[in-house]
Amino acid sequence: MQKKNKGYNRRDFLATVGGVAAAGLLGKAGLPLNAQDNPDPKKDAKEGKQPITRVLGRTGLRVPIVSMGVMNADNPALVRRSFEMGIRHFDTAWGYQKGRNEEMVGSVLKELKARDQVVIATKVPPGRPEMMDQMGDRLVEEEFLARFDQSLARLQTDHVEILYVHNISDPRMLKRPGIVSAVEKLKKAKKAHFVGFSTHTNMAECIEAAVPLDRFDVILTSVNYSMADDTALLDAMARAAKAGIGVVAMKTQCKQAWSKESGAAGPEYHEGSVWHAALLKWALRLESVATAIPGYTTFQQLETDWPVAFNLDYSAEEAKFLADPGVKLALAGVCRQCGGCAGTCPQGVDVPALVRAHMYAADYGNFPEMRRALDEIPAGHGLPICAGCRECTAVCVRHVQVARRLEELKAIFA
Ligand code: SF4
Ligand code: SF4
Repeated sequence: MQKKNKGYNRRDFLATVGGVAAAGLLGKAGLPLNAQDNPDPKKDAKEGKQPITRVLGRTGLRVPIVSMGVMNADNPALVRRSFEMGIRHFDTAWGYQKGRNEEMVGSVLKELKARDQVVIATKVPPGRPEMMDQMGDRLVEEEFLARFDQSLARLQTDHVEILYVHNISDPRMLKRPGIVSAVEKLKKAKKAHFVGFSTHTNMAECIEAAVPLDRFDVILTSVNYSMADDTALLDAMARAAKAGIGVVAMKTQCKQAWSKESGAAGPEYHEGSVWHAALLKWALRLESVATAIPGYTTFQQLETDWPVAFNLDYSAEEAKFLADPGVKLALAGVCRQCGGCAGTCPQGVDVPALVRAHMYAADYGNFPEMRRALDEIPAGHGLPICAGCRECTAVCVRHVQVARRLEELKAIFA
């Protein structure tokens, strides 16, 4: 369990949890989560009594800075407990757990009669670019709308607050007819109150391209401490926030760096919770970030992540962790999904996509998501090509052990 932070401890936390839930963080009228719900956010947050809340850009939605990335969770009790503690923004996707993730969110919120007290964000994939070219704009739009209707049915609601176009890595997709018309129709019909996109690869370029379009209200981006020197990304996020786009952080805790196999960070970090809180705080201390969606899967992780919403000061342990040279070394081996290894396979394999699929399996133990990531790779560029390859010559532009990761992926399917 995390040790005391300045001005905040576990007893305060438990007392506050009850208080937040009982008082109704979102106010009696439910959404929008506006200032009246937290009359003096700075004062309350300083005293550790209320979670820090921020407004999600032009959406006007005010949410606690710690939200729930539901993706890897399959326990309804964890979603329920998160709501009871005060979390009010739940992030899921059409594709997670083949729809069961959305179903879980929908049924828990129904059971809690909490639909009007929360922000639901879901993501719909636009389809593979090469398929979209064959389909034509009208079919692309129909397919997207049909998927979104499935999402609404699973979530047992007639709208979501945030709809993301899922997994944008090519800025051209932000202007793609079919997708643009679909999200505009959904927004007009108030089925999606706000629209945005998620990005895990080539984030800086995608975010920069989105700002002048003035089409997207929210952007969900990977960002974590391993990217502290990625000025292109951090500047793009700052520009987006300044333009009124709500910036949501994901993949904040770069779990891959703290595994025993990395060997870089000290063993004291492998099991403890210091890194969880320190890394989440690092992301939330970025001025551009409105909220983060840590993908916790256990009650213990929830009890580590949620207190971060009350106090972003680093504890002495957390500050030591962030300054530790071993930690910095471990971070150098974290994949940023920069795409720099694309083209380094002589057989044309989509190496960044494989490394990402490996991350789902190794970091989150989420094998269905790994499978989904693999299935999204166009034929002739995926793992089957690697099966007949004796020695991997694909390389990372940083320090990620690409060959080892691909060997592990191959072993899963051997
Ligand atoms: S493995 Fe390296 S080059 Fe490839 S996407 Fe990750 S960080 Fe970039
Ligand atoms: S294992 Fe061989 S085919 Fe696969 S990415 Fe590496 S070099 Fe390419």
